[in-house]
Amino acid sequence: MKAATTNIKDFSGYRLLACFAHPDDEAFPVGGTLAMYSSLGASIALITTTSGQLGEIRQDGIATKDTLGSVRSSELRESAHVLGIDRLNILSYKDSGMAGWDANKDPDAFINANPDTVRSQLVTEIRAFKPHVILTFEPTGLYGHPDHIAISQQTTDAFHYSNKKSYEPDPYHPTAPWEVSKLIYCARPLGYRKEWYEQLIASGVEMPEPSTEQLTHGTPPEEIDFIQDVSDYLDQKIRSILCHKTQTGPNWPYRNAPEKVLKSILGFEHYMQIYPKLVSRNQRQEPLGIFNGVEI
Ligand SMILES: [Zn+2]
Repeated sequence: MKAATTNIKDFSGYRLLACFAHPDDEAFPVGGTLAMYSSLGASIALITTTSGQLGEIRQDGIATKDTLGSVRSSELRESAHVLGIDRLNILSYKDSGMAGWDANKDPDAFINANPDTVRSQLVTEIRAFKPHVILTFEPTGLYGHPDHIAISQQTTDAFHYSNKKSYEPDPYHPTAPWEVSKLIYCARPLGYRKEWYEQLIASGVEMPEPSTEQLTHGTPPEEIDFIQDVSDYLDQKIRSILCHKTQTGPNWPYRNAPEKVLKSILGFEHYMQIYPKLVSRNQRQEPLGIFNGVEI
């Protein structure tokens, strides 16, 4: 194994590309990690494939169905600024909505995008930014959102194509292959919804009970390779989440949660290392991190 980066405090020169589907995907599951590495000097780029046009409007008067995409794009720009993201690309696909919605059939929905076009867009950005690590959702998209599943697949595909000499995203603008050292998926442990619900209810915060289907969401804990403690960056993470005013609104349950519960739920982020795969239990038990083992 290459030199671990556990004791490194200055990540200048390290680059991380995060690929997600909607404004706010960068905040809730991984915002603490992005804030942490950006604060420690790493360069962070983010690709968000849609403007989240079909999200909630949880605050009266701040958006309409027609303006939601542009309002959410502005919220994303603010959140990216709070997290210290250096480079933000919002692609022009439409939010596909949850599985079974009519919007799934919209030809402009991200799930209906031509995979060759998305591959070319992602590989172009990878070859331009030259990340050492790429981060996206685990294959079930945390809770089965079709756009989350699609970006996980497309990012994994682009990770492998970026280094192929035979692949050229745009024959008129040749780019040099770039080998990304690591592919990381963000995840949540199976049963996380129940655990969050119980913690919030026990601290007196009102919260709808998770549905039977929601209780099945998550990754078996033994498949999660490492947990990143981001509690030192919790304020930044919460500020970034709250930039997404349309999605949080005045009744966002965490507004009233005690610090201890906030830390326990939002202060830890869960990751799977997909490439190179960690094979031994020993490796998983090391204090791993996004950039561990990456040489620059
Ligand atoms: Zn999302």
